[in-house]
Amino acid sequence: MLGRRSPGSPPRRPRPEPLVRRRERPGGAERPPVILLEGVSKVFELGQIRVRALREVSLRIESGDFVAIMGASGSGKSTLMNILGCLDAPTSGRYEIDGVDVSQMDEDDLADLRNRKIGFVFQSFNLVARTSALVNVELPLAYAGLRGAERRRRAERALASVGMAKRMRHQPSELSGGQQQRVAVARAIVTNPALILADEPTGNLDSRATEEVLRIFAELNAQRRTVVLITHEPDVAEQTKRLVRLSDGEVIEDRRLSGVHDAPPPPRELKSAHAGRPGSGGSR
Ligand code: ADP
Ligand code: MG
Repeated sequence: MLGRRSPGSPPRRPRPEPLVRRRERPGGAERPPVILLEGVSKVFELGQIRVRALREVSLRIESGDFVAIMGASGSGKSTLMNILGCLDAPTSGRYEIDGVDVSQMDEDDLADLRNRKIGFVFQSFNLVARTSALVNVELPLAYAGLRGAERRRRAERALASVGMAKRMRHQPSELSGGQQQRVAVARAIVTNPALILADEPTGNLDSRATEEVLRIFAELNAQRRTVVLITHEPDVAEQTKRLVRLSDGEVIEDRRLSGVHDAPPPPRELKSAHAGRPGSGGSR
């Protein structure tokens, strides 16, 4: 991923807060947005060809929001997610997380920031094979330098919160797709991140597992966590509070579905049946 380390990779040295001093804000007390993008562009150079994957994207996401990013394949969703998650850097423009200017940070600071402030969930779960759910969820805490007993306690609590208390000793291959994704969500939240970023988290799930995972995201959001979810499924996007639509690397729609501090929309049955791809397993 263009020279940046993967989200699971350990920072070289854990270090205490603060990473970088926050910019002074007039009035002081007001909380900065979790995400602030200003005129962010991303150009990929492939020999002679220049692909403009993002064009001057500006986006402000307040703490506690629940945002769906939609768009056709190739519209720039994953590029945006990689930038939001500090896995890739913009070609131009400004990006702040929680008031911290990311462009000023070196690799070590970025790895720390990812580990402490962002929880990632991917379409393909990205769990470590032949390793129990419990140990998978403990991993980000091990990178953060937590000791064994505390690590275990927090991982158990995170797994219980996604309904996986009874399957903590199972390995990924012994779990359905929906269960694996719940373990991945537990891993994403175990560090208590400010931001949860999910790229097509329900893309490999059948409708029942999709509903379960969406219900968990809604619960996390009800606990005031900020959730940004990438999807191309309209009935998934409808269950969030705000819909941002990309086309050809540009934001072409930004529509609020419910207030940032409102309760998230109640879980609903999905209108369209999700196919559930072969090998992805069911929700049980
Ligand atoms: P989406 O996730 O919405 O399907 P992407 O963000 O993956 O879209 O891609 C947006 C555009 O950028 C596409 O034209 C894609 O081919 C191009 N692109 C994405 N990543 C790279 C890369 N690493 N190198 C070159 N082009 C890329
Ligand atoms: Mg994508």
